[in-house]
Amino acid sequence: MLSNSLIELDRAHLVHPVASYRGHERAGVRVLKSATGATVTDATGHQMIDGFAGLWCVNAGYGQESIVEAATRQLRELPYATGYFGLGSEPAIRLAAELAERAPGDLNHVYFTLGGSDAVDSTIRFIHYYQNARGMPGKNQFISIEQGYHGSSTVGAGLTALPAFHAGFGVPLNWQHKIPSHYAYRNPAGNDPQAIIAASVAALRNKVEELGQDRVAAFYAEPIQGSGGVLVPPPGWMKAMRDLCRELDILFVADEVITGFGRTGPLFACSEDDIVPDLMTTAKGLTSGYAPMGAVFMSDHVYDTIADGAGETAVGHGYTYSAHPVSAAVGLEVLRLYEGGLLDNGRKAGARLMSGLESLADHPLVGDVRGRGMLAAVELVVDKQCKTPLPPAAHPSRRIFDRAWDNGLIIRAFGNGVLGFAPPLCCTEAEIDAIVERTRMTLDQTL
Ligand code: PLP
Repeated sequence: MLSNSLIELDRAHLVHPVASYRGHERAGVRVLKSATGATVTDATGHQMIDGFAGLWCVNAGYGQESIVEAATRQLRELPYATGYFGLGSEPAIRLAAELAERAPGDLNHVYFTLGGSDAVDSTIRFIHYYQNARGMPGKNQFISIEQGYHGSSTVGAGLTALPAFHAGFGVPLNWQHKIPSHYAYRNPAGNDPQAIIAASVAALRNKVEELGQDRVAAFYAEPIQGSGGVLVPPPGWMKAMRDLCRELDILFVADEVITGFGRTGPLFACSEDDIVPDLMTTAKGLTSGYAPMGAVFMSDHVYDTIADGAGETAVGHGYTYSAHPVSAAVGLEVLRLYEGGLLDNGRKAGARLMSGLESLADHPLVGDVRGRGMLAAVELVVDKQCKTPLPPAAHPSRRIFDRAWDNGLIIRAFGNGVLGFAPPLCCTEAEIDAIVERTRMTLDQTL
């Protein structure tokens, strides 16, 4: 039994991320106790399939003994090494090299962070440095996309276009500009792929013209917009945006914090999109959630411009825990597991997940089913013809989340009636089928 005192201690002392503090105090915490494979058990003994891999991060699944062993070995041998003073650790150096070898094109330089928000934050710092180093300090404006999510740090949140991350904070955002999302299901340009691409290209071109090309530093895009509701652009969209950025002399940053490490199939979604960004951010699947870590990938020309600009001067950006050796040891083992079969399994499981979720399209509440690989969403509506969203009272995300939980499934229930799916890549066929069945059961109870 879950001890009441734990709930009380949580209520009194633990501040939760992205939560209504008062709402959480009323509802009380649910404590997760253990997990193995794709199954999570809470402190009351209730078991669920984790259809969201924690927070789209436990790509390798839970209870992978070889990861535990790699971390334990590193904790014993050298639990910490700074990268300052010209020092380093073997796992961090090896992981950087292994990642550079697999990253698209000339993304050969890896800067390790603690997660995705500070990876995005670091790119903003590096880009300012880069533009200064090449003698263009006026290039200090950034463009991202409506419904995009790029983290919750003071600066990185500026790129995030979800209202909840700005309301009530009042942080100045005058350096940050948005263009509309490619969101096909509700796109005013219709859902013709070429029209969507043309609209995004025109929107970026117009935005750059409006701001002045000599003022725009960079454009940020997720290969699939995750927290905005799993919004998948048409094939060719990333390439068209990347080409335009090159033409306009704007750095293109691919934020692969969710899409990286097998989530959409390959190690990096950019490879499938056939593009090489100037910079790329990753986190989550990098260590599969077993230890905190993110990584910024820099192309040769970005790295060299910064390095040459700095000369013998230190580039003043770094954290105590940059390139943490335990996280790096975890990252190396996770990479071995991905390539030892998890990516293959994820591709097969992803195809089964998509066709399973597509079979829900006949449900009266399902307006749209979309996704790629093991990243998917079902968008709920009350009227399929008019695409009328569920009225707020019918879809408080907590209520759908609760029903799914009771049915033995963890999914993400976004506030706008979108259900998000991102199961671990290790899921069996039976687990994928159970995710679909339990989702249908949850929808039936929501009617
Ligand atoms: N960028 C993207 C695309 C994300 O989805 C996230 C988190 O979900 C972040 C950045 C921030 O990562 P973190 O939560 O590890 O700080």
